[in-house]
Amino acid sequence: MNVLLPQPVEIEAVQRLEEAGHTVCVAPDPKPETVLAMIKDAHAVILRTGITMTRELIEAADDLKVISRTGGGFDNVDIRAATDNGVIVTSNLGVNTISVCEHVIAMMLALAKQLPVLDRAVRDGNYGIRYQNLSRDIHGKTLGLLGFGRIGLQVAGACKSVFSMKVVACDPYLPDHVKAQYADLVSFVDKAQLCREADVISIHVPLTEQTRHALSTAEFAKMKNHAIVINTSRGPVIDEAALIDALKRGLIGGAGLDVLEKEPPDPDNELLQLGNVIHTPHSAALTNECVIRMATDAADRTIEVLDGRKPLNVANPEVLASERWAHLS
Ligand code: NAD
Repeated sequence: MNVLLPQPVEIEAVQRLEEAGHTVCVAPDPKPETVLAMIKDAHAVILRTGITMTRELIEAADDLKVISRTGGGFDNVDIRAATDNGVIVTSNLGVNTISVCEHVIAMMLALAKQLPVLDRAVRDGNYGIRYQNLSRDIHGKTLGLLGFGRIGLQVAGACKSVFSMKVVACDPYLPDHVKAQYADLVSFVDKAQLCREADVISIHVPLTEQTRHALSTAEFAKMKNHAIVINTSRGPVIDEAALIDALKRGLIGGAGLDVLEKEPPDPDNELLQLGNVIHTPHSAALTNECVIRMATDAADRTIEVLDGRKPLNVANPEVLASERWAHLS
């Protein structure tokens, strides 16, 4: 069967698909018009983040069976359209947890230790900055997690064990019995208390209508003026205009942003000019090891569907009830 890649994936995954007898076709670029022209004969799409699978794209395929995301999020898939057309959507939950966790800790330390500022100063001949610009320890400080799922839990464990941080988390959707399980690691609080108490705030929620602009003017106003805010989730979870205002007015100390409201950002995005911000290009999960894990896992989900097996991690399980998928074992 035909597997369409709107963007290339690692060779290990391509080999896996070809060994399973499938034909892999890579789009020359992930523009919707390019993919639209190629999707008619595709039975599967392996999807990274460079394109959104819209209803128009999904309905342009004659016999699309599965859209397999290489990562954990599926906000670049019109799930409703996929379900309406009997297309299974899979994602790879948890495959990038450890890589994102390491990225969060790298950003937290880089900001607390002012690495970009000090690095630039040394290169500019300003060695005297060592007395003027003191960095901060994070040992014993409070970590606030907005979202306590896979990545939040991993970050909490690492920060508690390595830096003896106190951990507070806001996750209203977590059942009480799960919260009770982590009582030794974390105190569950509401968002306002989290904003007031945390020295480092790290966001680990999906992008939903409830989480869009979850951190905005009111939240930044509550934060400590040295607070570090780290976003590796999705850009629109932070109200960027409010963040820029908070950073410029010194309401918070700095931000580590792997994601932005618009990616790539416009060149005149003020966040690119601020010295107390570290940017990475939505690359928290893009480690050597993780990209191979993500691609091969996405290939495995695809092969499962094309071979007539029920795949792991179905994002739209209701689709499995349809006649089309009655044969899945
Ligand atoms: P997860 O599903 O395991 O955890 C998400 C948690 O958020 C859940 O516990 C859920 O109850 C909670 N939540 C949902 N809505 C909430 C709200 N309104 N307030 C507070 N908590 C809420 O997901 P995860 O694997 O931990 O990943 C978190 C997010 O990180 C993903 O949704 C994805 O958008 C993002 N992500 C980014 C990268 C990257 O490369 N930067 C890589 C992987 C994941």
